[in-house]
Amino acid sequence: MADGTETESRKLLGRLREEMASEAAGQERLDRITHLIADSIHREVCSIYLFRDDETLELCATEGLSPESVHKTRLRLGEGLVGRVAKSGKVVNTADAPSSKGFRFMPETGEEKYSSFLGVPVQRLGEKLGVLVVQSRDAREFSADEVYALEVVAMVLAEMAELGAFVGEGAALSPLHQQSVLLRGGPAQEGSAEGHVWLHEPRVVVTNPIAEDPHSERERLTEAVEELRVGVDKMLEISQGGDKDQLKVLEAYRMFANSKGWMRRMEEDIALGLSAEAAVEKEQSQARARMEQVTDPYLRERLADLDDLSNRLLRILTGQGKTDSADLPPDPILVARNIGPGDLLEYGRSLKGIVLEEGSVGSHATIVARALAIPLVVHVGRITTEALNGDHVLVDGDHGVVHLRPEDTVVSAFRDKIAMQAKAQERYTSIRETPTVTQDGARINLVMNAGLMADLPSLETSGAEGVGLFRTELQFLVRNKMPKRLELVTQYQRVLDAAGDKRVVFRTLDIGSDKVLPYMKHVAEPNPALGWRAIRVGLDKRGVMRMQLQALIRAANGRPLTVMFPFVAQAEEYREARWEVNKTIEREKRLGHALPETLEVGAMLETPSLAFAPQKFFDEVDFISIGGNDLKQFFFAADRENELVRRRYDSLNVSFLTFIESIVERCDISETPLSFCGEDAGRPVEALCLAAMGLRTLSMRPASIGPVKSLLLRSNLQEVRKIIADARHRGDQSVRPAVMEWLRNQA
Ligand code: PEP
Ligand code: MG
Repeated sequence: MADGTETESRKLLGRLREEMASEAAGQERLDRITHLIADSIHREVCSIYLFRDDETLELCATEGLSPESVHKTRLRLGEGLVGRVAKSGKVVNTADAPSSKGFRFMPETGEEKYSSFLGVPVQRLGEKLGVLVVQSRDAREFSADEVYALEVVAMVLAEMAELGAFVGEGAALSPLHQQSVLLRGGPAQEGSAEGHVWLHEPRVVVTNPIAEDPHSERERLTEAVEELRVGVDKMLEISQGGDKDQLKVLEAYRMFANSKGWMRRMEEDIALGLSAEAAVEKEQSQARARMEQVTDPYLRERLADLDDLSNRLLRILTGQGKTDSADLPPDPILVARNIGPGDLLEYGRSLKGIVLEEGSVGSHATIVARALAIPLVVHVGRITTEALNGDHVLVDGDHGVVHLRPEDTVVSAFRDKIAMQAKAQERYTSIRETPTVTQDGARINLVMNAGLMADLPSLETSGAEGVGLFRTELQFLVRNKMPKRLELVTQYQRVLDAAGDKRVVFRTLDIGSDKVLPYMKHVAEPNPALGWRAIRVGLDKRGVMRMQLQALIRAANGRPLTVMFPFVAQAEEYREARWEVNKTIEREKRLGHALPETLEVGAMLETPSLAFAPQKFFDEVDFISIGGNDLKQFFFAADRENELVRRRYDSLNVSFLTFIESIVERCDISETPLSFCGEDAGRPVEALCLAAMGLRTLSMRPASIGPVKSLLLRSNLQEVRKIIADARHRGDQSVRPAVMEWLRNQA
């Protein structure tokens, strides 16, 4: 970079710093800044456009264009050259603006005299704030040095905007992060919550974007980068021999931390007058802007690694660490880009709600949030840039909606909804001990699904008659190494202790497909849902299966034990697994351990094939549980994780219900106990139809027991059966409309 530009730029930043420190009001400050910039770079025009709302840019200050157009000229995102800069996050530099693609003539500004145009995005860590524009009469492009210097100035403007330096009365802009915003995402755990934002990783605030002494800033940066490198090396050392993916990320960290290009760019920023932290943030903002444009998943991941690394560096430089959970507000709503299951478990039930920018319906964090019954919304774009610690927020986990800094009217409507839900909850509590008997005398056994220690108190509070599905893999998923047998014994003991004389169905390890153990060698498969998973892994890795069976037998320690194998596709798989159980029992006996008082070994019916197994299988299996989540995806050939097809097929589809009924009939012939433990069991209308098809045990999330019981108690299954039969006779695709109509008439 030319020395001249360097000194000029430092001088300009020095003047900007004086502006920042001045007492001036927002508008006055903006006016003076445009004047300063135009003057210092010797161009006729300098304008600042800022976002009035998400879609609209407004000319907020100008030196050189008509003053009357300030706060009048507006452009939509993507409109004109200014809109293009804002939308793409990229510089536009042209000697002949009027003939450039997308140019929009704005007569009120008087800009027709100016030929050259340079527009630089004003953005901070992925948040688009506005555009800085310089123009001049002479038709010449801006030099690379000039562009670079303007980018540095834009960075400072972004920091000033973030700190509220341009806020004012009247036509001026209102402060950032104060307006109410409605954000939409995907519902991942139902329920409504009101509370205050708790950022899992708070934003680092840079209060000193401009520095006087580049020499000492460079030293600060070098020291911080050194500390960062040492930290990354240490992490790498600790992780050697561990998970390959984690190692890959750390290797990428190390590569970036040692990258000469990254360091050089930050040093150049400092030479132009930025402070060390502002230089880091400038690079980070540009990486985020690139991330938005890159579609290649590998490159996106690497850019995300760079982003994480920059955050670490910023924390070292500013000393702003992770927040201390001792400062949690009384009603925290956790806001994060993403969060691991371990971190989430640490917060535990103290959280009232969770909002994630990324996340997914099947992620481990979601599994934990569900177990803890905390309303969760995932895929909420912009939440981490919009929300500030302590902001008032409403989370609607039923519809995947988040109201940040809501208006009073929204708050009161939301509170009404919460009050209604609380009333319903009271009703459910009042029937907690009532046995579930339908109007026509069918006794339905309502049990719960569980998987974490955090679930156990629900056995009492929900009125569940037992645990119909204990997903043992959750204990494996939330750790970073394989648990030891003794740890498993202790856990299973705690589960059985909490259950007392209620039955607990332990499902053996169900991994593979969407459930990947971080510490087990990951095998890339073209179709993981159809791949090496559940009992298939168990039968191929007998050591793990035996270890788990031993742990279960020892935990039972003479009490009754119920074990269930997941994803049995053919009778032979069940037989082999049962053989392992028998062998383990023999071995435990030899070792002198107490054997279970009674032992039941069941199979999950999750593939249509098992429904057509020879009748002999139904005779020999102790019980069957329909895993409706998987069964449905294979029945309709529609991936349960794929948002494009997930909701396409209704569980109340006549063909599906007919299929379920045929399983009930086969089990009836051999008097094989049958239950249903997919998510549908916890949806009242679906549960009603399953009961009408003959299911007498339904296993569901604890929070669903109240609503399901409430509906079953007032329903007559014979009538529902008749409605389903009529719908079938008519040739309806789904029985839902007919059943809903009947329910409305009942009310
Ligand atoms: C199912 O598939 O319905 C089931 C209960 O198992 P999971 O959801 O754990 O795969
Ligand atoms: Mg399943």
